[in-house]
Amino acid sequence: MAMIEFKNVEKYYGDFHALKNINLQIEEGKTVVLIGPSGSGKSTLIRTINGLEQIQAGDLIVHGENISKKKSDMNLLRKNVGMVFQHFNLYANKTVLENIMLAPRIVLKRDEKENREMAEKLLEMVGLADKGNSYPDMLSGGQEQRVAIARSLAMKPKVLLFDEPTSALDPEMIGDVLEVMKTIARDSDMTMVVVTHEMGFAKQVADQVIFMADGTIIEKGSAKEFFENP
Ligand code: ADP
Ligand code: ADP
Repeated sequence: MAMIEFKNVEKYYGDFHALKNINLQIEEGKTVVLIGPSGSGKSTLIRTINGLEQIQAGDLIVHGENISKKKSDMNLLRKNVGMVFQHFNLYANKTVLENIMLAPRIVLKRDEKENREMAEKLLEMVGLADKGNSYPDMLSGGQEQRVAIARSLAMKPKVLLFDEPTSALDPEMIGDVLEVMKTIARDSDMTMVVVTHEMGFAKQVADQVIFMADGTIIEKGSAKEFFENP
């Protein structure tokens, strides 16, 4: 089943044509990496998937729901689709554990004990089991981003979007974040869409690589096709 399907999607910012006739299917459990020059529409494309940007024409179906239709349920969409940003957007006045537990408590009304256990398990998965009681400003950027990933996963989304998740990090922090993303890609059935300049990551874990330029998809193929052809 396609988890995400773009059919003839058009996106404008005013007069500016940002996405031009996008056709794309992303199967459940796959990892797709978007590459291409700055300004080519990568960020716009992934922001349409969680409704942060509206499309003006075509159909965009996410987990069986046509989100281009006016009456589509945006709350359900936001539950199904998590997003990790370049800047981590953690709550500065809450501990790491509280950051992770907040949305499941409020939105999903998850039982407090279960919520805590899950948050602790996720912290362990991202290599930060000992940081639950720390505040974000006590962490490095790479640690903050791993908390942000754990926080997204706590909502058990069907789809996880990453918009240049390592671009704001010091080089020595990038590896740890990419390792966590690789673990999720390999060991879970998460559907992941990742905008990144990290070609090593694309090569190792992408099921599909999409090259964008000027608002269109210029090329798509397996990582193998992409990186091994002359
Ligand atoms: P990329 O992620 O590939 O760098 P973006 O999706 O961020 O590209 O941007 C694609 C184009 O759309 C750029 O020319 C950018 O200036 C423009 N754009 C992005 N967001 C907006 C906006 N909110 N209003 C107007 N133009 C925008
Ligand atoms: P990034 O490349 O990290 O996505 P950008 O500088 O492209 O950052 O965009 C930062 C923010 O500014 C985004 O929210 C984007 O939608 C908005 N933006 C980008 N280009 C324009 C534009 N030409 N007009 C208005 N807003 C824009």
